[in-house]
Amino acid sequence: MDNADSTPTNGDLVPLRDHRTNSGLSADAAAQRLARDGRNELPAPRGRPLVVQFVGQLFHFFAVMLWVAAVLAWFADLPELAVAIAAVVVINAVFAFVQEQRSAKASAGLRALLPRQVSVRRDGQPTAVDAAEVVIGDVLLLAAGDRICADADVVLDRGARLDTSMLTGESEAVGVGPSGRVDAGTFVVDGEAEAVVVATGAATRLAEISSLTTNTRRPERPLTAELNRVVRTISLVAVGVGLAFMGVSLAIGTSRSNAAVFAIGVTVALVPEGLLPTVTLSLAIGAQRMVRDNALVRHLDAVETLGSTTFICTDKTGTLTQNRMVAVELWAPGGVGHLSGDGYGPDASSREIVGDASRVDELVRAAARCGTGRAVCRAGEWTAFGDPMEAALDAAARRVGVDIDGDRAQRVEQHRFPFDSNRKRMSTIVADGAGGGAEIMVKGAAESVLDACPSDATTAACRDAAAAMTERGLRVIGVARRTLPAGATVPASAAEAERELELLGVVGLLDPPRPAAVDALRRCRMAGIKVAMITGDHPRTAAAIGDQVGLSLAGAPQVQGADLPLDLTELGELVDHDGVVISRATPEDKLRIAMALRARGHIVAMTGDGVNDGPAMQAANIGVAMGRSGTDVAREAADLVLLDDDFATIVDAVAQGRATFLNVRRFLTYHLTDNVAELTPYVCWALSGGRFPLALGVMQILALDIGTDTLSATALGAEPPSSGVLAGPPVAGRLLNRTVALRAFALLGPTEATVSMAAFVVAFLASGWRPGDAFPGGDVLAGAAGAAFFAVVLGQKANAWACRSATETPWRHGWGGNRLLLVAAVFEGLFVLTCLLVGPVAHVLDQRWPPWPALVVAMSAVPAVWIVDAAFKRRRHNGG
Ligand code: ATP
Repeated sequence: MDNADSTPTNGDLVPLRDHRTNSGLSADAAAQRLARDGRNELPAPRGRPLVVQFVGQLFHFFAVMLWVAAVLAWFADLPELAVAIAAVVVINAVFAFVQEQRSAKASAGLRALLPRQVSVRRDGQPTAVDAAEVVIGDVLLLAAGDRICADADVVLDRGARLDTSMLTGESEAVGVGPSGRVDAGTFVVDGEAEAVVVATGAATRLAEISSLTTNTRRPERPLTAELNRVVRTISLVAVGVGLAFMGVSLAIGTSRSNAAVFAIGVTVALVPEGLLPTVTLSLAIGAQRMVRDNALVRHLDAVETLGSTTFICTDKTGTLTQNRMVAVELWAPGGVGHLSGDGYGPDASSREIVGDASRVDELVRAAARCGTGRAVCRAGEWTAFGDPMEAALDAAARRVGVDIDGDRAQRVEQHRFPFDSNRKRMSTIVADGAGGGAEIMVKGAAESVLDACPSDATTAACRDAAAAMTERGLRVIGVARRTLPAGATVPASAAEAERELELLGVVGLLDPPRPAAVDALRRCRMAGIKVAMITGDHPRTAAAIGDQVGLSLAGAPQVQGADLPLDLTELGELVDHDGVVISRATPEDKLRIAMALRARGHIVAMTGDGVNDGPAMQAANIGVAMGRSGTDVAREAADLVLLDDDFATIVDAVAQGRATFLNVRRFLTYHLTDNVAELTPYVCWALSGGRFPLALGVMQILALDIGTDTLSATALGAEPPSSGVLAGPPVAGRLLNRTVALRAFALLGPTEATVSMAAFVVAFLASGWRPGDAFPGGDVLAGAAGAAFFAVVLGQKANAWACRSATETPWRHGWGGNRLLLVAAVFEGLFVLTCLLVGPVAHVLDQRWPPWPALVVAMSAVPAVWIVDAAFKRRRHNGG
């Protein structure tokens, strides 16, 4: 730890004890220390070794089932089959391993994108830097909502309270404590502090603890649980059907070894071994696409939940508006001002003051002194540092001509009661220069400040002025003060400080709506998603912005937080409308609204930015935080982080979520369809009492599963979203729903099965066999088996294209657009030719090139699947 004792002149630290003279490191010193100590990042977690991960793929649930099948085959004296099944397990494991690695890489990439800016003081100026570039000796400026990024010694404590649950498991917020040390990874939930960094990156306590916990398992998420359910159900059915076949075969006098083969064949045919890794990869691809649209999901399941969103509760500031505030109107008792121009620069030509200019000066001076946001000039350009509204007030003071920097140098800040969204105001106590007294300056929501001033004609006039401003959609901030005589005790609480105030006036700030919000809201409506605005702002400001972006709808309630019913059922009935506007809402209101809407069956996305928004975001199905504005606490509680803070991004993410969910359903349909075709030969064989020969042997089924399913299914999982994905109501519901089951088990599956069995029979006919004759074996049977095999491969290929769209036929949807599917088609073409034409391979599979009439029938699988698919889609389109 090297802090304290160097001098400021060599670019190093100033003494720590007196925080007011601690101007922090110089930019040069910080750069040198960064080069010396490295970035402030936790060492990459040591995951499970790759070998262990691969072995895990060899022994998961399905793999174990298949191993059992292999062992059975071995003992049934079928070594070839046993080896083939083992090969299938290994090939599947390789495939799953590769997919999981790709998914893990995608997720890690997403984590690295989570923005982490922190405030430090460098060269005497508050500066925002990347948390990874914080070095030992940096002065952290901590406020409620911040995640502490390094271990640090507190040098100034303004009532800071910390959430240390991450390190200690203790959920109650605690004060800084006697050691004065704060740890990386904890959060400031209240108050403010300044702290000098003593350890970064791998040297922090957090790094020590996280190295112990990297191997703890995360709880199973809903989608994973749902998938496991689907997969277990299918597997149990597979085993059940397999055993039933074994029973039937033994009953009709088949040898024990043949009965075992059939049981194994049926089980292998039905087990969807490639499903889980394909789903994970599909979600990872969805997440990567989302991040390209500035929507960062913090865990993969959120991709799917987003797709089923039915209700979006959005705040106003920054999401529907640009959060680029400008003070435009000033009202003080005796003087008014109009400011024009945008941005944060002190453009003097843009002001127009009427009446007593000194009153207007007092108003903006107090407004600017009460807060930490600043307008700062870097490389000739003025930008906001910290809260954009406070920066706008700082800019307003400069525009009016107040020497705000001089004021800060002269009158030192002694204490601050930070903003909180329940009180809706904050205050700062500054030493009052010459007299030795102090001044309390208060700013906040206009009515909250006015309520703390004695009512008189001035407050009444001020209320009118504020009302006129809110009517125009301005955010109105009230400002007031109280002078403390020399020797008076400094108030111990906000309640004590913020009373009996002298009103200084109100400031009207403009925060223009985001242009993209209008179109995004229109898309939500088209998609059957309801939207509510829940804001802390004034009802009229909220209503005006609601109108400007087209959120408000005639007949939709507009209610203030304080008027919301206490009963959750009533609350749900009240807010369950598109275009609802809830103003002056508190974080508790948001929490109750999330619970009430969920109780009505909605899938709720809830935005949040404040330190207290975490519970509401977690009570919703999807918590949405802002990447640029908002607090670290909110980002930590979020499932989705909007990197550009834009409402339209939520809607894009919903579209991508829907597309991903549809993709999972697509390849589920694809996977399940050929199960029917693979099972049918066994059913025919069993129903005929063993007289009708088996069209597809177990080896052929294994070949089909490996050769046709894996690659095409992955390709379907990466299908790009269609333009119409938001054109209808949400695609919520079970993955394996009625439509999927109907398409796979009742339509496409039986179509493939029928064509395959027809090709099988035609091959016999072509060799001279006639109904009633005994079926020939040898080459004739091998040719027929080849025909059945070829039919299923072609049917599955047609099926892959049919599955690309849930509503359009392949010829309307277009053939291109999914490169991986084309690659899969070429690969599978070569694969099927190898299986039929390369002697040793064909021999192992017990098949050969079929006679041409059977070949023609097999080829008809393609049009047959497409015709059935087109008829199904047409019927659904017509509401059948
Ligand atoms: P939204 O929820 O849409 O982001 P909001 O920012 O207005 O709205 P809150 O943060 O709860 O919601 O703020 C409530 C009100 O408190 C604001 O409308 C404003 O009048 C006032 N306010 C907000 N920030 C500050 C601040 N830093 N200092 C003083 N008053 C503030």
